[in-house]
Amino acid sequence: MSLRPFLTTLPLLVLLAAWGCSTVPYTGRTQVLMVSQEQELRLGYQAFEQIKYRSRPARDPRMQEAVQRVGQRLAQAAGRPDFRWEFVVIDDPSPNAFCLPGGKVGVYSGLFRYLENDADLATVLSHETAHVLARHAGERLSHSMLAQMGGTGLNVALAGMGASPGAGQLAMLGYGLSTQMGLLLPYSRKQEFEADRIGLILMAKAGYDPALGVDFWKRFAQAKADRARRPAFISTHPADADRIRNLEAGLAEARRYYQAPAEVRDYAAMAPSPTPWQGHRNVARPPAPR
Ligand SMILES: [Zn+2]
Repeated sequence: MSLRPFLTTLPLLVLLAAWGCSTVPYTGRTQVLMVSQEQELRLGYQAFEQIKYRSRPARDPRMQEAVQRVGQRLAQAAGRPDFRWEFVVIDDPSPNAFCLPGGKVGVYSGLFRYLENDADLATVLSHETAHVLARHAGERLSHSMLAQMGGTGLNVALAGMGASPGAGQLAMLGYGLSTQMGLLLPYSRKQEFEADRIGLILMAKAGYDPALGVDFWKRFAQAKADRARRPAFISTHPADADRIRNLEAGLAEARRYYQAPAEVRDYAAMAPSPTPWQGHRNVARPPAPR
């Protein structure tokens, strides 16, 4: 008698035990999650500590103050006091931001070149907060695990669910470093659009006019067209005409949540600090932008 059938089905059973469906807040979309909220939080917190260890905080205290001020309002609007919300600015010239499960949000100092005031910052932070709230990282991880288990037929099914192409090639079984890295994969286009829609709602709830959010993404898309070197944030986000249309379609809904305007501070005096990059290249790069 061979143990082989047992050994091959065991991981499958373990994963199926964790299987669950969840509903995305605000959009009501049903998502398949094969990682528990607890597992997701643990991985998110660990990964964030590693990122902070490998990077440097931005030197300009005004940047840190701005993300605290705006970030805390968004954390409040998100309505998840069980998450350990944390907003940091990392010293890096790329105009980018990222998030991890459990309310961990990082902004690169280079992004401030494109931010004129708190409302602009709220636009970016609310998009990242929306990814967190909608558990997009856990969902993407689940798709990768399912694709790894299931082969072609399942891949076809996953494509219908909006899983990233190529998800099936990822070895995601088991929890460990590979799973943590899975947290840093790009989101699917469907998830990006969903984060844009939920992001507008969250910024409105936090007291920032969602119309300014749509304006910001338009301006940012224009900056992409104007620059020979494309900002990374743009190249990893679907900042094209479809994205703007999706944002405009979500504006009316978001406006319903905009009731008590927050104070919006201007960043006119906040020039990004010049950064000497020699030496930093020896440090492990921050996570892949998304
Ligand atoms: Zn995104």
